[in-house]
Amino acid sequence: MIPAAFTYRRASSVDDALALLAEHGEDAKLLAGGHSLLPLMKLRLAVPEVVVDLGGLPDLSYVEDRGDSVAIGALTRHHDLATSELLGREVPLLAHAAGTIGDPQVRHRGTIGGSLVHGDPASDLPAVALALDAVLVVRGPAGSREVPATEFFKDFFETAVEPGELLTEIRIAKRGGQGWDFQKFTRRAIDWAIVGVAVAGDAVALVNMGPKPMRASAVEAALAAGASPAEAAEHAAEGTSPPDEHNASAAYRQHLAKVLVRRALENARAR
Ligand SMILES: Cc1cc2nc3c(=O)[nH]c(=O)nc-3n(C[C@H](O)[C@H](O)[C@H](O)COP(=O)(O)OP(=O)(O)OC[C@H]3O[C@@H](n4cnc5c(N)ncnc54)[C@H](O)[C@@H]3O)c2cc1C
Repeated sequence: MIPAAFTYRRASSVDDALALLAEHGEDAKLLAGGHSLLPLMKLRLAVPEVVVDLGGLPDLSYVEDRGDSVAIGALTRHHDLATSELLGREVPLLAHAAGTIGDPQVRHRGTIGGSLVHGDPASDLPAVALALDAVLVVRGPAGSREVPATEFFKDFFETAVEPGELLTEIRIAKRGGQGWDFQKFTRRAIDWAIVGVAVAGDAVALVNMGPKPMRASAVEAALAAGASPAEAAEHAAEGTSPPDEHNASAAYRQHLAKVLVRRALENARAR
């Protein structure tokens, strides 16, 4: 449980971080809250030669009102999302889901950017970003580009962020009075979800139901065709390939997805 030796570099600005990435190429890894990267390094599943710490960049930690949307800096910690008055009013799904992550220690260190770029299908915020149709701003040597959340999660722990790039901002349209809900079934309070469901209006996304965070397309299609929440939820397992391991079988997760999608849709419509 001791990481391999590495060189520690502390970035002084976003440009400095990009320069360090350019200098060290694929040997370098960015460090945000460290709550996903450091466990991987301790297990030696990640063995970066250089760790570039973003922790000293206060200009990437914010929740800002941009008129029709809310902009969130990539280094904003889960605790700050959960307690943001602006998010609580305009994007309550994100504030609520952030408050269910891990325990207070994890929420005070982990960042939204780290969670999204890590791309773990068992994490909560990727599914929330999908349900909210978030836009992710990725910066690299050639400038910034905007990536819709639906195109961001490529495969198992793989996202649209290329080597040499970093995620700087997440933009989400204000939701006003739109119905929403977040369901997370865990064995113990602090655990990752066995299955989770994020609902924003008629957009539905699933946690831990495949190799990458995913929208429940068959459920959304059924809703668009006029199905009730109960009828639409019967489609929740379509197109999924959940993990089959000691915490829960794939069949159990597929059953659970139907139950939680129904519950989430009914709660969302009741708000
Ligand atoms: C005990 C425990 C319980 C947890 N429970 C949950 C849970 O219930 N639900 C949940 O969703 N998560 C959970 N997590 C994960 C937690 O949310 C992590 O904080 C999060 O997944 C990663 O964020 P981080 O800031 O710590 O990223 P880091 O670990 O610092 O980085 C993760 C990855 O993202 C990259 N990266 C980080 N920031 C950027 C950026 N701005 N641009 C480009 N690349 C970047 C890093 O290079 C690394 O590859 C838990 C973690 C622990 C340790």
